[in-house]
Amino acid sequence: MTEFDLIRRYFTRATPGALLGVGDDAALLRASAGSVLAVSSDMLVSGTHFFPDAEPFLLGHKTLAVNLSDMAAMGAQPRWATLAIALPSVNNAGADDAWLEKFSAGFFSLAQRYGVELVGGDTTRGPLNLCVTIMGEVPQGGALLRSGAQAGDEIWVSGYLGDAALALAHLQGRIALSESDLDICAQALHRPQPRVELGLALRGIASSAIDISDGLLADLGHILEASRMGAQIDLVKLPASRPVAGYLGQQTGIQCVLAGGDDYELCFTAHPARHAEVSGIAAKLKLPLTNIGTIVARQGCIVFDAAGNPLKLERAGYEHFR
Ligand code: ADP
Ligand code: MG
Repeated sequence: MTEFDLIRRYFTRATPGALLGVGDDAALLRASAGSVLAVSSDMLVSGTHFFPDAEPFLLGHKTLAVNLSDMAAMGAQPRWATLAIALPSVNNAGADDAWLEKFSAGFFSLAQRYGVELVGGDTTRGPLNLCVTIMGEVPQGGALLRSGAQAGDEIWVSGYLGDAALALAHLQGRIALSESDLDICAQALHRPQPRVELGLALRGIASSAIDISDGLLADLGHILEASRMGAQIDLVKLPASRPVAGYLGQQTGIQCVLAGGDDYELCFTAHPARHAEVSGIAAKLKLPLTNIGTIVARQGCIVFDAAGNPLKLERAGYEHFR
């Protein structure tokens, strides 16, 4: 199969929302009147972001999901994506037809759910590497930025924290989860659900937002830095699933909720006067939204334990260049 056959077979679908999609030297796109483009890239590298033998359907899902999560964090409506993919040679494990079939099925099933059109990309031989650039629309002046948090704002997170990190700890042999607990946590690790609807609902309500990919403390830290603010959060308020809650008495659980990677939940801030509106969004989306603390003017982030004492924090998040 030539590169062009491969692109045609696995990565070419109708793109009615584009002026021109896959097949020419570039795609042609037009943003809706009054909107600006939100553009973001995320790369997944074999061995760093996923196991080399990762199930391809789930990998296709996750490749797009992590990018959709960035659109969610901006309050953007995802529209288009490009996919740059390096594939090992057909003889090596990983790039055969069955693999491509499943990978593209996982990618397109999530793309379809959010109306995202794949309008281009690049395909080359090399160690497995997946890079999506995603483009979305947001009304001019309406994007959710990291820089808008104000003293007194409430800090919120969606969903549950630490599930993916707990699953990873199990897969790396650091802990042993029961089968049912692993099922719950592995969902978060392998099939993250981007909070696109939440991001859209938070337009005009949240004062700042970020998606949690490197752990709550690290990502909230980006909001604090961009907003030149500090935060106080309460450990007991952090939303944890049953499996993670079972580990909260130990350093493992605390690390997972505060510094675990791959949550893909949103962390956002909003003025306390918007509290009821935020709760209304949670009810409407059937997605837990938890107020975990408060933005304060004094810089730095303090986490209080159940007794009200500040925690000593060991590791603030996952950094690739450590
Ligand atoms: P060029 O040589 O001009 O870079 P390519 O041969 O790389 O063009 O790609 C041909 C067409 O296929 C282009 O429209 C490109 O955007 C698209 N394309 C290449 N790889 C992918 C991919 N993995 N997914 C979607 N579209 C792709
Ligand atoms: Mg090319």
